[in-house]
Formats: sequence, C-alpha cells, structure tokens
Amino acid sequence: MKFATKAIHAGVHPDPTTGAIMTPIYQTSTYVQDGVGNHKGYEYSRTQNPTRHALEKNIAAIENGKFGACFGSGLAAIDCVIKMLNPGDEVISTNDLYGGSYRIFRTIFEKYGIKFHFVNMQDVDAVAALVNENTKMIWVETPTNPMMNIIDIEAMAEISKAAGAMLCVDNTFATPYLQNPLDLGADMVMHSVTKYLGGHSDVVMGALVCSDENIANEMYRIQNSSGAVTAPMDSFLVLRGIKTLHLRVQRHCENGEKVARFLATHPKIDKVYWPGFESHPNHEVAKRQMRGFGGMISFTLKGNHLEDALNIVKKVEIFALAESLGGVESLIGHPATMTHASIPKEVREQSGVVESLIRLSVGVEDADDLIADLKQALA
Ligand SMILES: *Cc1c(COP(=O)(O)O)cnc(C)c1O
Repeated sequence: MKFATKAIHAGVHPDPTTGAIMTPIYQTSTYVQDGVGNHKGYEYSRTQNPTRHALEKNIAAIENGKFGACFGSGLAAIDCVIKMLNPGDEVISTNDLYGGSYRIFRTIFEKYGIKFHFVNMQDVDAVAALVNENTKMIWVETPTNPMMNIIDIEAMAEISKAAGAMLCVDNTFATPYLQNPLDLGADMVMHSVTKYLGGHSDVVMGALVCSDENIANEMYRIQNSSGAVTAPMDSFLVLRGIKTLHLRVQRHCENGEKVARFLATHPKIDKVYWPGFESHPNHEVAKRQMRGFGGMISFTLKGNHLEDALNIVKKVEIFALAESLGGVESLIGHPATMTHASIPKEVREQSGVVESLIRLSVGVEDADDLIADLKQALA
C-alpha cells in the first residue's frame, strides 16, 4: 500500500459491534474477563488499549516498520529508548540537538552511568572517531532545530552496524511522509507526535517504531513497566490527524518553498536556512534521503540586532509567536530568547543561534497571506 492509503486505513477497522467507521475512544482502564486468563487480548489500559493500539499500528505502517508504541510525550518516548541501555554504555549524538533531548540525556541519564558524546554529525569521520567497545547507540536528529542541518542517515547506519550499536533517528521535523529512517538502515524511529503527526496543536504525544522483534519486546516491556503511555482520547485525535498528514505536509512543503524564496530575496535578510536551496551545505544529502524539504525555515537579519528580531516577531499578525511547530497554523519563534535560552550564549552562537535568528513553522494557510504578513513585519 502507498503512503496516502496507509495514512487513512492502516491499523483501523470499523467497530465490530456497531459498524462505526471511526475507531471508538475506549475510555476504560480495565476489561472484563470471562474466566481467569480468558480475555480478548486486553487486560489493563497501561498495557493495552484498543484506541492506542490502532494508532500504534497506524504509525508503524506509515514509517514502514513492524512495531509501534505511543507515549505521553516525545520525551517519554526518548526516555524509553535510553532505558534500553545499561550503565557504562555510550551514546554518540549530534551537537545540534533538540534542547529537551539534550536535557534528558545530560541531567537524567548521565547519573545512571550512561555517557553521551555530542559531535557535529555532518562530519562522518568525527562520529566514527568516537566509536569504542562501549558504544551502544547512535542518536540522530535530522533536519536539526533550528539550524536545519541535514545528517546522512545511511552513513550513520554504516557506522552503527560496524559498531554493533543501535541507530535511533528523531524523525519529528521530516515526518514519515518525507523521510523513512528504517528504510535507510536505522533500527528505531522516534517522533514527537505533538508536532506534524498530530498536526493541530491539540495533543502532546510521542511514538517509537522499529522492525526488530527483540528491540520491540524491550520497547513494550519498558512502555508497560515505566507506564508513560498516552490516553485513548489523544490517540483518537492523532488517528484523525494522520488521515491528512500527506495533504498537510504537501502544503507545508509548497508554502515553505514560497516563503523561503521570498525571504532569500528580501534586502533586510542575511541568511536563510532551508534544505531545499541548492546552496544549502547538505542539499545533496537532503535530496537523497528526503522526498521534500518541509516548512521549517530559519533566517537571520543584516546587522544581527536583537531588537530588530524582537520587533519582527511582535509585528507579525498571522504568524503566532509561540514554541512548538508542525501545526496547520504558522508559528514564529526567537530561539536565542525562547527554545535555546538555557544554552550559554557562546555555545549557542557557535552552532549559529545568533541574536537575530528567527525560526518559522510555515503552516498551511494561503502562502500569499503569509508572505504579505512577513513583508509588513520586515518593513
Ligand atoms: C518537540 C520535540 C521533541 C520533544 O517532544 P515532546 O512531545 O515535546 O515531548 C523531541 N524532538 C524534537 C525534534 C522536537 O521538536
């Protein structure tokens, strides 16, 4: 089955008791058993819930994987992955990582004896140089936030396979419509479902997908043992959201391209970071591993003045000033004072998060209106 058909049909069946075409919200904690051990596959909703189960099968299908698991947030999904490791194990990750991922690695898991290395993953040799006999995981995020760097997933898979380590890819920015890490050699895919999969800024959720049965058994054991599961109502909302994922991401890509090209010609703008430009340093890798370039764009202003950036994020009328991304509505953010404020200025500026950097999550409104809004805010 092709993507659009799977997005709409995978994992879901008309309700056998009523024929309801939409998966019901099974708002129940427990399930009545006919006799001890004689049940219909559901015993307790931390372990299994039919609405969540349908969503887990759907997300696995659109990522071309066999097994899916949903969690109370993207970070709860990351928490599950790192709990597969043991004290003494080492993880290699990118130095341009989602702040919350960096925080859970450093402030939660380091004290349990897991060691994290952060490196520029566009430099494949630098990653290979960090591998040793304790390397058990490579953690990739691509495109990165907010600099829109692209990491070569196949190159990382080659290193992880040679090391006998697991490759996990945070595919939140790309979405399964544009990029499928399992097909490129990854062992595990992670999503902040909160963003494009949910797509309507009304749910916080995370997901994992894998195809290896041993990894899946660990994933489900930790999901049930740690208990950070998602709710039936939220599962229903995301099942509904994914039915239009392909349509939304197509429009995000179209609008993203129009906005990026507008910004690139504006006299007040210095740099525009969007992997669809031929001048983007990783454009060739992006073209190879992605089917489109998405609607996430960052840009800087000539002169690099903080006040100019703050003025623009205040003056926009359609773009809403907010954290998060991936919803139907366009958002604007200022990484240096918002998402990346907790990172020291020197460190932040080394990776490109300068005072005038502005990040856009281009939504699915009319592109002409979005461009007119940016034009008036920049004037
Ligand atoms: C938002 C985000 C997360 C964390 O997900 P939550 O649902 O907020 O817990 C992880 N990775 C990336 C790339 C994100 O954008």
